[in-house]
Amino acid sequence: METRSTCPYCGVGCGVVIEHDGQQITGVRGDPEHPANFGRLCTKGQNLHRTASPMVIQGQRLLQVQRRAARGAALQPIEWDEANSHLVAELLRIHREHGPAAIGFYISGQLLTEDYCAFNKLARGVLKTPHIDSNSRLCMSSAVVGYKQSLGADAPPCSYEDVEQADCILITGANPAWAHPVLFRRLEVGRAKRPGQKLIVIDPRRTETAELADLHLQLQPGTDVALMHALLHACIWQGFTDADFIREHTEGFEALKELVREWTPARAAKLCGLKEAEIWQAAEWFARAPSSLSLYCQGLNQSSSGTAKNTALINLHLATGQIGKPGAGPFSLTGQPNAMGGRESGGMATLLPGHRDPANATHRAEVAALWGLGADEQLPGPGHTAMAMFEAAARGEIKALWIACTNPAQSLPDQALVRAALQRCEFVVLQEAFAGTATADFADLLLPAATWGEKEGTVTNSERRISRVRAAVPAPGQARADWAIVREAALRLDAALNPQRAPLFAATDSPEALWLEHRESTLGRDLDIGGLSYETLERSGPQQWPYQQSGKARLYTDHRFATPSGRARFIATPYRAPAESASAKFPLQLTTSRLRDQWHAMSRSGTVPGLFAHEGAPVLKLHPQDAARRRLQAGELLRLQSARGELVLPLALDAGVAPGQADLPMHWGSEFLAGAGINALTSGVRCPDSQQPELKFSALAVEPAQLP
Ligand code: SF4
Repeated sequence: METRSTCPYCGVGCGVVIEHDGQQITGVRGDPEHPANFGRLCTKGQNLHRTASPMVIQGQRLLQVQRRAARGAALQPIEWDEANSHLVAELLRIHREHGPAAIGFYISGQLLTEDYCAFNKLARGVLKTPHIDSNSRLCMSSAVVGYKQSLGADAPPCSYEDVEQADCILITGANPAWAHPVLFRRLEVGRAKRPGQKLIVIDPRRTETAELADLHLQLQPGTDVALMHALLHACIWQGFTDADFIREHTEGFEALKELVREWTPARAAKLCGLKEAEIWQAAEWFARAPSSLSLYCQGLNQSSSGTAKNTALINLHLATGQIGKPGAGPFSLTGQPNAMGGRESGGMATLLPGHRDPANATHRAEVAALWGLGADEQLPGPGHTAMAMFEAAARGEIKALWIACTNPAQSLPDQALVRAALQRCEFVVLQEAFAGTATADFADLLLPAATWGEKEGTVTNSERRISRVRAAVPAPGQARADWAIVREAALRLDAALNPQRAPLFAATDSPEALWLEHRESTLGRDLDIGGLSYETLERSGPQQWPYQQSGKARLYTDHRFATPSGRARFIATPYRAPAESASAKFPLQLTTSRLRDQWHAMSRSGTVPGLFAHEGAPVLKLHPQDAARRRLQAGELLRLQSARGELVLPLALDAGVAPGQADLPMHWGSEFLAGAGINALTSGVRCPDSQQPELKFSALAVEPAQLP
């Protein structure tokens, strides 16, 4: 038998065909009809069926509800009914003793939109806690705020087909050759057919993506805003700006022009570690090409200046009129399969359903009415974002954390703080498909969840395309769909807390019912999907939002933006250095990066031995000059130290890492390494606008490890 679904890894959102016998998944292949991938899959996607093999399910999946009677005690198997009673009793106790804001939800861009809707309604509608955030905070919240500040709405304006239509592509802070492989393959094929296309890559490392570039700007980490300002300076100086577009469709150019006046290419070249001529060249190619597209991801977003980096790049598009036409626009790539769905359904501390704002009383009232809250009930305002929620837990303000489909005891930065927070919480619930994650060590209650191939719903990929995710086989053991786990608890909690009205989940009793409620939340909004249904997705395949009779491949083609004035805004934010800087004590600049064949904390990809063939173990990569200066040899064990923690790892020499810099793969946590893993070293400092942590910059010291 065959079932069409979507790959659960990256934001490219490739369609897959699952081969199965109704009980077991036996194979997977790319869906030739899916417009994201047209049948292609990368190595991770090609191996998906292996993550669903009986051996993996027996050995690596969480199959049984488990409860810890006391901290330090072993987890014991229990039944669902006992788990639900315990869960509800503990949440009600904490709600009664400390108020709703003592409960936090930390969820995931791996969840389906329907799961997000269920969690959001439980947290804000039933419990009235403002604290719900997602691990998407780590991957794209700077892009969200950047789009909103510059263009008025969180809506990536481009499509994948723009990669094939652009005359110039600027990739900055992204390594799609490894992190978005099928999209990168489209780029490679497109380039072969478009010989004049220019490719500029801005990245501190010489990545596989940079290898393909016509021009690689290997800048100093964290200096992106200065470089963007200098590119704009060069465009203005050379007369490459689009004066008509600026006059007719934008506002704020004069203030920005004043700001970038001082950012001459010569000055920026010095700060960024580049040649001045490279900046003039990049500006000319970008501005003078008939169409220029930028692709960007964590290298811009995971920064204490994440939003400023996004808006500085969008400034460049606006000043040169490179938006709203085929092959042009600022195109943020999402890391996770459904980071976009979380943004749309408002499952984050700074968002409400339908791109609404929790700080806006009218928006809160609209969502309260949609969900069926009583006239005397109000939704809470904005809550703690990811790191702030764990900081509040470490201070003892948040007493209960319900974590779903994510592994914060590995993936959040500053692990010492995160682990202290989990330890201090009175009640930690972990809803998870995989067994033995680092976070499970801190959980009082483990709830087994269904995963890819076993659940129904939708996801939205980077190009705003909504695809169905379908169940091919039943969930194993006691595992249940995430939305169903939430609904069961929500019905019981609602009956106890809000007996005066009908339960909020009475009618939302299926993925489709949740999706229809989500659809209603979008009506009249920029992401309106009023014309779309599960049936349309069944009949016509994946569709882009907004959708009435059809989807929209490209936004702002009429050059009318989503701001109150209809004009796009130039944002003039001065360059700020990263929060930390290299020093005598910590002389190296550490970045973290993804490997081609692994995914996040490796809960799923780590179950396939073949996926370790590309890179099998974590190593610290240094430039050979840095190793020679310190008399270090390849393979030697090093003690790595930041201001927050330390780690022992072997050294690898890599001339693609610039002198003075260091690179670590993000994937390894305490399940694989002694201590708290890679994020023992990284910093929880955040962008003030997006609250996205600066995972791409930590000051680091290395020395030979003295082993006992
Ligand atoms: Fe899956 Fe991304 Fe690979 Fe496509 S590119 S198969 S979505 S991991």
